[in-house]
Amino acid sequence: MEHAFVDILGVRVHRVDVAQMLTQIKTWIDNADGPVTQAVHQICTVNPEFIIHARRTPDFAAVLARADLAVPDGVGVLWAARCQGVRLRERVTGSDGIYHICAAAAHYGWRVYLLGAAPGVAEQAATRLQHRYPALQVVGCYGGSPADRDWPQIYARLAAAAPDLLFVAYGHPSQDQWIDCHRHELPVIVALGVGGAFDFVAGIMPRAPRWMQQWGLEWLFRLLRQPWRWRRMLALPLFGLLVVRNCAKSIFKS
Ligand code: UDP
Repeated sequence: MEHAFVDILGVRVHRVDVAQMLTQIKTWIDNADGPVTQAVHQICTVNPEFIIHARRTPDFAAVLARADLAVPDGVGVLWAARCQGVRLRERVTGSDGIYHICAAAAHYGWRVYLLGAAPGVAEQAATRLQHRYPALQVVGCYGGSPADRDWPQIYARLAAAAPDLLFVAYGHPSQDQWIDCHRHELPVIVALGVGGAFDFVAGIMPRAPRWMQQWGLEWLFRLLRQPWRWRRMLALPLFGLLVVRNCAKSIFKS
């Protein structure tokens, strides 16, 4: 299935909503008969930090360009698309996406695996998800790390558990680069990076209140809770400036 996309500062973002992402995942899983032999289908949740990092790091830009689905995470991405006259229906985030995907997984019988986060967090997240979706098959949890020395151990665990879908919580860009680097070896059908989603699901980190999410202020909540993020978050004003500059350029051209 080919999805339309919008180019935001050189990064391709697919014009999909949550329902379309779930349909796409279902198609991939339904069409993958028997042992997994093709490259894993990778989903990246693109937010302004991803885009600024991609502009500075060609290798990361290539990872995003290779992803099968680059979904619009971050209110800034929706706004930047709107500046180009493209209306994206909604944010498709890892933190909410994990719930939507697990609901679908429970319904269709997909086997999921939770990889990443601090020791014990994935297990705690899995317990909560299973409580919420009793039919959900979590076939394994493991912290591990994206370091090369951990790969044999991770591979062995995944091969034994045979999941359909892998959530990877190593934070960006590591998680996305890690999936891309192992895309021909990962014994799963679909893999997606979910950042701090296990921390939210496990209840270790509170999520911004709904109203802050709706007003596009989730970044502020995270900055107040985790002030060390300030340097990374400098990407946000820079992203805003670049989008406005691009917009102005295209208005003057036309
Ligand atoms: N993490 C990890 N191993 C690493 C680096 C990070 O398991 O080597 C985990 C960390 O514990 C947290 C998640 O990755 O659960 C990163 O969360 P963050 O909110 O920083 O990710 P972002 O949403 O900003 O990409």
